[in-house]
Amino acid sequence: MDLEMADKLADDKNSYNNLRTIVTLLPYLWPKNSLEIKYRIVIALTFLFAAKGVTVGIPFIYKLVIDTITQSLSALIVIPIGLIIAYGVARLLAQTFGELRDAIFAKVGQRAVRDAGFKTFRHLHKLSLRFHLDRQTGGLTRSVERGTKGISFLLNFMLFSIIPTLLEILMVCIIMGALFNIWFAIVTFVTIAGYIYWTLGVTEWRLKFRRKMNEMDNEASTKAIDSLLNYETVKYFNNEVHEGKRFDEALSSYEEAAVKSQVSLSTLNIGQGLIISSGITVLMIMAGFGVQDKTMTLGDFVLVNSYLIQLFIPLNFLGFVYREVKQSLIDMEDMFRLTGEKIEVRDIKNAEAFNFRGGKLKFSNVSFDYNENRRILDNVSFELPAGKTLAIVGPSGSGKSTIARLIYRFYDVTSGRIILDDQSIDEVTQDSLRQQIGIVPQDTVLFNDSIYYNIAYGRPDASPSEIEAAANLASIGEFISSLPDGYNTKVGERGLKLSGGEKQRIAIARTILKDPGILIFDEATSALDSRTEKEIQTAFSQVSENKTTIIIAHRLSTVVNADNIIVLNNGKLVESGSHEHLLQAHGLYENMWKRQLEKEEQED
Ligand code: ATP
Repeated sequence: MDLEMADKLADDKNSYNNLRTIVTLLPYLWPKNSLEIKYRIVIALTFLFAAKGVTVGIPFIYKLVIDTITQSLSALIVIPIGLIIAYGVARLLAQTFGELRDAIFAKVGQRAVRDAGFKTFRHLHKLSLRFHLDRQTGGLTRSVERGTKGISFLLNFMLFSIIPTLLEILMVCIIMGALFNIWFAIVTFVTIAGYIYWTLGVTEWRLKFRRKMNEMDNEASTKAIDSLLNYETVKYFNNEVHEGKRFDEALSSYEEAAVKSQVSLSTLNIGQGLIISSGITVLMIMAGFGVQDKTMTLGDFVLVNSYLIQLFIPLNFLGFVYREVKQSLIDMEDMFRLTGEKIEVRDIKNAEAFNFRGGKLKFSNVSFDYNENRRILDNVSFELPAGKTLAIVGPSGSGKSTIARLIYRFYDVTSGRIILDDQSIDEVTQDSLRQQIGIVPQDTVLFNDSIYYNIAYGRPDASPSEIEAAANLASIGEFISSLPDGYNTKVGERGLKLSGGEKQRIAIARTILKDPGILIFDEATSALDSRTEKEIQTAFSQVSENKTTIIIAHRLSTVVNADNIIVLNNGKLVESGSHEHLLQAHGLYENMWKRQLEKEEQED
């Protein structure tokens, strides 16, 4: 396939995408369930037509004023006060109608922005953990931000710049044709068509210079920052000249692109000027002849000029509008693509609510991989009776946290089944399942808000005394009270103003508040010193009494009392049983146990 053909295919695809993006936007303009928005659109359009009608009428009134004055020139000069006032009022009305149109439409545009933003945000929460781990959060929010801005821009420019201008062109052509003769309409039309064709064509051609300019600008600043950040390295290798050259290369490309961009802009403007001036000149010559042979008045002569000048005011921005509309379409497509992103973990059709009956858990030949080529869990089977405690131990990376994620249905298993209270977890609704499961994760991230807010997140309708009770159970109540701002203390972004242990205890408190039927502690006490760990362990046994509990732990001393311990190695379940049983089995568990004892003795 040659390059031209490839370009043409890409263009066709873009036009298709643009069309699809605009179609996706339509429901926001005519929302099924909002009568108010529909009213607003109708009223705004009425004002739009009214404003255009008056705008087109203004030069006409001007013409009448001139005709009245010139006709009476020889005799007593009659100043058509009425007409002049009408001219002033018409100008005011045209502006007022335009403003009213914008004011009434503002809610339509902003509602579309809000609805699309909200829909995308909700959808982002529905997408799987896999999607979110693969994407940069900053990039996602930028896509949504740019996309919603694009919607607002496109709606405003489509409705209030492009459509009205086209309407005005049409009206002026018709008026010219009707007032004078068809040639006036044809010349006006050809001038404007030529102007639009030239502007769009040259703007399209210029895009690459602007793009290159932005690219080079980014590159120059990246190089400068990188070079200055590596100040020491540059000095170690005496590479100042080399760095200077690299920076200058980027600058020179920028220079070249910037010059081309300016030259092309001037070319665009000169061409536009040429087309406008030629059109106006031809029309004025035609009008001049008209005045000469008395088929036209002096007012008509001025009218032709005024119409053309008035028409070209909005067309001046055509290049800019075209560029922005194109960019808006791309940004919107980017955002709509997010809402079209497939939801990986879904409720099956007619999924029933999970019926919690104590939390009996069964893994039956569960295998799982995050990516196709790497098995993470391999045929894992175990059972945990309701109300009992299971510990999962094993070397780092053996798949322990993955088991917790699968129970919570962050991912669906690759094969096998996970059964809770005799219900397969992929056959019940995710919402009802997750209500019954509380996870204290390995790395706790907090919201950038108060401690109170972060604990209450476990159950937003909890009373202050319930929140305090949960904090006390998690051994963090005393600490919070000792802070100058107490529960109102802000925790900073991601909770960075608190220590790892404090964050973990807040996470434990909010899970206690959620009060789920099944508890999963994923190395929940790893960041704590042994005294606090003991305190929390006591709290754990209180809150998890009679609850199905899963403890993922590195420190084996914390799991000796578990009813059952499973040992994972490389995604395989290699041993299981009680602490004593596993010690007697002289396998991996005993090995790990001995090593930890030795380490503790050495530390002592
Ligand atoms: P640790 O004790 O260090 O917390 P773990 O036993 O809990 O380890 P998992 O977090 O379950 O281990 O991870 C098991 C394996 O899966 C690891 O090798 C890890 O690199 C890989 N893994 C985890 N999450 C993902 C992911 N989202 N995508 C791809 N691979 C992943």
